[in-house]
Amino acid sequence: MYITHIASEFAPIAKAGGLGDVVSGLAKAHQSQGHQLEVILPKYDCILFNQIQNLQVAYRDLWTTEGGQRYNNTIWSANYGDITLYLIEPHHPQYYFNRGSIYGATDDINRFTYFSNAALAFLLHAKKSPQVLHLHDWPTALVAPLYKDLYAQRGLKVGAIAFTIHNLEHQGKCSGSVLERWGLKAENYLIPEKMQDPFSPLLVNLLKGAIVYADGINTVSPTYEKEIQTAEGGCGLQETLAKYRSKIRGILNGIDESYWNPSTDSFLLHSYITHPPLTQEKVALAFAAKQNNKKELLLSLGLTSTDKPLVISITRLATQKGPELILHGINRTLEKGGQFILLGSLAQPEILSLFVALQKREEKNKNLAIIFEHDESLAHRLYAAADMLLVPSLFEPCGLTQMIAMRYGTVPIVRRTGGLADTVFDVETSSVPTAQKNGFSFDYPDYAGVDWALDRAIALYCDHPTQWQLLASQGMQYDFSWKKSAKEYLRYYKEIGKTDRKSKSSPAKSEKEHS
Ligand code: ADP
Repeated sequence: MYITHIASEFAPIAKAGGLGDVVSGLAKAHQSQGHQLEVILPKYDCILFNQIQNLQVAYRDLWTTEGGQRYNNTIWSANYGDITLYLIEPHHPQYYFNRGSIYGATDDINRFTYFSNAALAFLLHAKKSPQVLHLHDWPTALVAPLYKDLYAQRGLKVGAIAFTIHNLEHQGKCSGSVLERWGLKAENYLIPEKMQDPFSPLLVNLLKGAIVYADGINTVSPTYEKEIQTAEGGCGLQETLAKYRSKIRGILNGIDESYWNPSTDSFLLHSYITHPPLTQEKVALAFAAKQNNKKELLLSLGLTSTDKPLVISITRLATQKGPELILHGINRTLEKGGQFILLGSLAQPEILSLFVALQKREEKNKNLAIIFEHDESLAHRLYAAADMLLVPSLFEPCGLTQMIAMRYGTVPIVRRTGGLADTVFDVETSSVPTAQKNGFSFDYPDYAGVDWALDRAIALYCDHPTQWQLLASQGMQYDFSWKKSAKEYLRYYKEIGKTDRKSKSSPAKSEKEHS
């Protein structure tokens, strides 16, 4: 199958969070199963250029129009392993992708709608006809209506459009005039059946546009698929999602096990095997290596080297991630005699100030480190050194950190929501067979919930080390690879490719056809 992703992230070369991991993990899995893969990305100045190969100009002089003005673009090609990347470089006075970071600019809507339009212009110009065009979250959502209402008429042929909702919270709401820049008449889209935002009727909602226009939609876990169709989890789009229920699937993310593998991880001083089949000897070696990694890590961060339980959190410091619960978890861990390391990135000022205050108060505490950075190397060393990972999210579409942690023999403590509920099975309360239990969870996102799960974890670690190792080794044995999920994606691609022509035309056309 010929699959083209249009995405704003691709790990590890352009990554802000899990979306980047998913695009590259899924693309690699499909490529290794013999499919033809391409990924179109913006040519950010912050791409890790030393990790891609064969960077060269593929097309010069791709002209695109924005609000009546023509701009030239250069399309670069490169390889990441066996995957072909196309990087779009606009020659534009706003230097859209030379901002030093992927997101966070005040004109992100302009940047990513520019990219969406240019990606389609490139496919048309290069006469490419992918069987599946796979889009991801609001940054590339506009591709779906742009293709169906403009580019299909211009001659671009795409088998089916797949849209993945990695996080429904961010929807790309903007003035209708944004659509005019790309040649779509705002008044045709500012209606409830199309892209009108349910809360702000004067705004268009890019993510809603993809829900309406894509041939298939999927969320990144089965539980999140159900949650987003409720008033509580639908972020205002529950009615639109209910209307298009028949085209939504929940497909659990995998992790890229060639990248997240403690036996080959070049960031670790002490490597260890966690892949099945695991013998008792291998498990013992894994815990010995983890202990050595822990010593090295604590020393490098200036913390006391001890046998105390080490709890970590590796996260964006966003409201979604339960920052107050993380803060509470830190205090509780210290009270219970443990150590805590938080690696947190991209914090809003009010969230950041909570942790800065704690950091100041505990300045001399050698059992706590708080690091405000996105640090890939440190993340790997933390997964390998820690005993427990705390993820108290208010909602979590899938969550990758709990799966990575288990692969590294670190036991997850999570709130039972979204993909966390689909991957972490509590040692006491879960109904799965005993041999499949792999962590601790709590239902309500409050302090009592965190205490209940954390206390049980710390008690098991301190009082029953053999049982602890058994639990951690059960987590290691889970198959969180992309193999299974990649197959599910293929089945889904085939299904949406088969949808009849009438239902695949744009909603506008369908309405006319019905009248
Ligand atoms: P989200 O996509 O909502 O941020 P996920 O759990 O799906 O959360 O994915 C997070 C990914 O980003 C994981 O690969 C995790 O290791 C990584 N990550 C999160 N925060 C940091 C950080 N501060 N430094 C390094 N890596 C991080």
